[in-house]
Amino acid sequence: MQTLRERLSRITDLGHAAAILEWDQETYMPAGAAEGRARQIATLRSLAHDILISEETGTLLEQAAPESAIDADLVRVTKKDYDKATRVPSSLIAELAEASGLSKGAWQEARENDEFSKFAPHLSKIVDLTIQHAEALGYEESPYDALLDQYEEGMTAAEVTRVFSELKADLIPLVSRIAESPATCDGIVHREFPRDTQWKLGMQVIEKMGYNTHYGRQDFSTHPFSTAFSITDVRITTRMEDRFFNPGFFGTLHEAGHAMYEQGIDMALEGSPLADGTSLGMHESQSRMWENLIGRSRPFWDYCFPHARKAFPDALGSETTDTFYKAINTVFPSLIRVEADEVTYNLHIMLRFELEQDMIAGKIRIQDLPEEWNDRMESWLGVRPSKDSDGVLQDIHWSLGAIGYFPTYALGNLMSTQLFNAAKKAIPDLDAKTSQGDFSALLDWLRTNVHQHGRRKTAGQILLDATGSELSSESWMHYAQSKFGELYGF
Ligand code: ZN
Repeated sequence: MQTLRERLSRITDLGHAAAILEWDQETYMPAGAAEGRARQIATLRSLAHDILISEETGTLLEQAAPESAIDADLVRVTKKDYDKATRVPSSLIAELAEASGLSKGAWQEARENDEFSKFAPHLSKIVDLTIQHAEALGYEESPYDALLDQYEEGMTAAEVTRVFSELKADLIPLVSRIAESPATCDGIVHREFPRDTQWKLGMQVIEKMGYNTHYGRQDFSTHPFSTAFSITDVRITTRMEDRFFNPGFFGTLHEAGHAMYEQGIDMALEGSPLADGTSLGMHESQSRMWENLIGRSRPFWDYCFPHARKAFPDALGSETTDTFYKAINTVFPSLIRVEADEVTYNLHIMLRFELEQDMIAGKIRIQDLPEEWNDRMESWLGVRPSKDSDGVLQDIHWSLGAIGYFPTYALGNLMSTQLFNAAKKAIPDLDAKTSQGDFSALLDWLRTNVHQHGRRKTAGQILLDATGSELSSESWMHYAQSKFGELYGF
């Protein structure tokens, strides 16, 4: 057991060292260093992979005699990692890496020139290899299950389909009802917001929420992300626009939500593969909770608006909490997922989930994707892309071979309201606390029920233990209907 622990901790260290290089790549690295850096990261990642899939690790896992409950979980979780890693031939991993390297470049070019046909052959190749990958990983019902399981352990396409169809049935009518209501005005958030002041307000708020800068830091990057090198070093990045309040502020809250999850993992798991978020969906439930359920709530702005008005006297000096609250919650069916509001966001995800399944099942020809995409956008959201860069070419995920990833964004939204409702039951005056800028009870609840477990519990288990229910769209839908019904006056 001791030898196994040491071996797994070496694998974890190599992974974290690679993650530091990746963090630096996105924040401070000079552009010219890209090639060398890619090689260094690949070296560390493949060293970690080689140790994991080695016979010695297999034997140690077989023979390990757990000495504690944590040991038992460590063996159970690592056995799964080991099985997944050893089932896929290294030749296939190499082929996938090469194809996605080429495909990423082709995607960037196709997107710039609005030419899907330039990306299509690369996507075909990626889909072929992804199907082989799914076959190698193994599954019970559909190949898509194997892909999904990489990001959301235990989740199946059938389960996602069930939850998404329930959601879609209520969400499309809600979106059209909002679209028919008198539009709210979000002009306020498009005024002048100096970046250094945005930074200060963002930091002030996330520290108040519980992001601990003694064990973390924030920097700038083009695409914001959160990354952990240990429980005591969890970093976030942000991106700001001078004349748009939302991306910087809510992006900061979002990444801090991810980071607080990892800062809250039990220190007894430090340095082991268990010291990580349990799934992408559960991770996203944490970021979305702080960004939306808290950050876009009325009680939160009762607390925060006076601070924001003081920080931005030119933009907000003569505004009220009410008008600002309405402005940040404007719903507007639009083409681009990353700019989508809270209500329409899930439809963007469902569209990708349906198309991914069709691609993997061979039900759709790659050349027909743009048309299929546009048709669904039009029928669900009432908007139709006039060019592929606003449609099928907008996301990087498929070019990287990340098929099966998208659903986790929407699953996270659903889990966030399920968990939030349970927290509210346990903390009856949660809204009152939020309006005073006191987030400690919520953070404590999350630490106890979600964060501390790391990978010791699956997302499904955490949800069941914390809420008494399995994954469902009901609480999110109820939340959306009541919040936006009130905002839009129906
Ligand atoms: Zn996120």
